[in-house]
Amino acid sequence: MTRVIITGAKGRMGQALTACARNFRDLEIAARVDMGDELSAVISKGDVVVDFSLHSATAGIVELCAKDKKAVVIGTTGHSDKEKAQIERRKNEIAMVWASNFSTGVNTLFWLTRKAAEILGPDFDLEIVEMHHRMKKDAPSGTAKSLAEILAGVRKLQLDKAARHGRAGIVGERTPSEIGIHSIRGGDVVGDHTVIFANAGERLELSHKASSRETFANGALRAAFWVAKRPPGLYDMQDVLGLK
Ligand code: NAD
Repeated sequence: MTRVIITGAKGRMGQALTACARNFRDLEIAARVDMGDELSAVISKGDVVVDFSLHSATAGIVELCAKDKKAVVIGTTGHSDKEKAQIERRKNEIAMVWASNFSTGVNTLFWLTRKAAEILGPDFDLEIVEMHHRMKKDAPSGTAKSLAEILAGVRKLQLDKAARHGRAGIVGERTPSEIGIHSIRGGDVVGDHTVIFANAGERLELSHKASSRETFANGALRAAFWVAKRPPGLYDMQDVLGLK
């Protein structure tokens, strides 16, 4: 039995995780932690902490996991460079799965995006469009950033220089070394991502649309089950799904 502690338990994802855990036979929710609760008081009850709280809380949660030698699944997005470095510092001490998106479909999109960028080559202009519900706090989405990192990696571009977050005014002609990233917010959209490869005369679009948070919750719980038996290291959802 894998015992899971959820942090951010009262949020949209925390509630989806609680509901989906019932579908996993060898997994149980040992504790649910949200604002005002102390993770340190319950951490001994679990094998894995699954964190869907807030980017600024994750490094502290990882510190507690390292202290108690618990595995962790990190679902939060929007971390600063400092927060990322604090989290990564513990990768040799505990097993961590850190993914901007836990859905099988989006992880397939990651794979297809790399493949398409390799096949189509440098003549195709690269643009990413994402849409999320009006309550989402960070932009662009963690998934859009992951897609941009994949494209930048294939094109051998430095992402912070290549990223073009929206366009306004007399911005001039598009250069081949840009990766456009555009965030739309509204309504209750769970998460849409499209990668556009545009050349003169043709355009390829790869799209994923999530219609329920269950897809992320089931993926994160699958990751929790998987990571509980792993040696220390930093893993992602591609490792969990065997896509590498
Ligand atoms: P939400 O605002 O609905 O829920 C967050 C919850 O965390 C709230 O209940 C809040 O009270 C709690 N929280 C905040 N700070 C905390 C702390 N210090 N300790 C404990 N709990 C704390 O947000 P959401 O839509 O559930 O998303 C949560 C996070 O997960 C966001 O970063 C979001 O971008 C990310 N997310 C990731 C994926 C993925 O597949 N990786 C999918 C969906 C959402």
